[in-house]
Amino acid sequence: MPEIPDLEAIRHYLAPRLEGRTITKVAVPIPWLVRTGADEFQTLAGHRFVEISRRGKFLQFQLDDERVLTINAMLTGRFHWVEAETKKPGQLAVVLGFDDGHELRYSDMRRMGRFYLTEADQVDAIPQFEKMGPDVMAIDEAQFTALIAKRRGQIKNTLTNQEFVAGIGNAYSDEILWEAKLHPHRKRSTMDDDDIHRLFEATRSVLERSSAAVSSIVQSEGIGRKEEWREHLTVHRKASEPCPRCGTPIKGQTRGGSETNYCVQCQPLFA
Ligand SMILES: [Zn+2]
Repeated sequence: MPEIPDLEAIRHYLAPRLEGRTITKVAVPIPWLVRTGADEFQTLAGHRFVEISRRGKFLQFQLDDERVLTINAMLTGRFHWVEAETKKPGQLAVVLGFDDGHELRYSDMRRMGRFYLTEADQVDAIPQFEKMGPDVMAIDEAQFTALIAKRRGQIKNTLTNQEFVAGIGNAYSDEILWEAKLHPHRKRSTMDDDDIHRLFEATRSVLERSSAAVSSIVQSEGIGRKEEWREHLTVHRKASEPCPRCGTPIKGQTRGGSETNYCVQCQPLFA
C-alpha cells in the first residue's frame, strides 16, 4: 500500500507535468471507483489542475473552479503519465487526457481505489475524512505529544491508526520504530518523555529521508511501473537478515496478512 514517501514522490512527479495543461478527454473504464458518479466526472473536461496536495494516504488535485479531485489508491492503485498511444495497462480504471497529448491514467489490480470529485468545502464529507487525524508531516512535536498522550494501545497499532495521525502504514511504522528503538508491541502507557521524543524525531527523519529516496527513483524511472517503492527500507520485509545496527537477525511476524519486522536486540519490549 502506498504510504507518504510514495505519494509525495508521485505528487512531485506529476505537479510540473500537469501545470497549465487542460483536460481534453475523460474516460472511466471502471466507473464504480468514482464514488461521486462517473457522469459528473465528465465535467472535468475543459478544466485544469492548479495544485496537488496530500492528506494522509489521499492525493488531492485542486481544479481551477473550486472543485477538488480526491484519490485514495488503497492497496494496488497505480498512476501513469504516458503519451496517449502507449499500450494500456491491466485494470485501467480512469483516464484523463491532456492538451499536450499525455494521459494521466489510474489502474488498480484489486479495484479498491476511490475517487471523489467534490466542491473544495465538501472535502470533509468524504468517508474517512471526518475521523481522520492530522497528516503526520503537518504537526509539530507538541501536537504529536498531545495526541499520543490520549492513546493507550500498542505503539505500532497507534502509529498506523489513521484516526491518530494520517499517512503511516505497515511498512513505514516498522522503519520508524526500528529507528526509534521501540518494540512494535510496546504499550504507549509504558513510554516516557524520551521515548515519545525519539518516536517523533524518527517519524520525521524516516519519512523525510524516504520521501527524498523515492522521489529520486521516481524522477528517473517514472511512476507507472509500481504503486510503492521499498528498495531503500532497513527492516521491513527483511526477516532473518542481519539488523544493520547490531547484526541480530531481524524478526518477522505475520498477522492478518501483514508483516511486522523488528530487532529483538535494539527494540526490547521491556526497557
Ligand atoms: Zn539490532
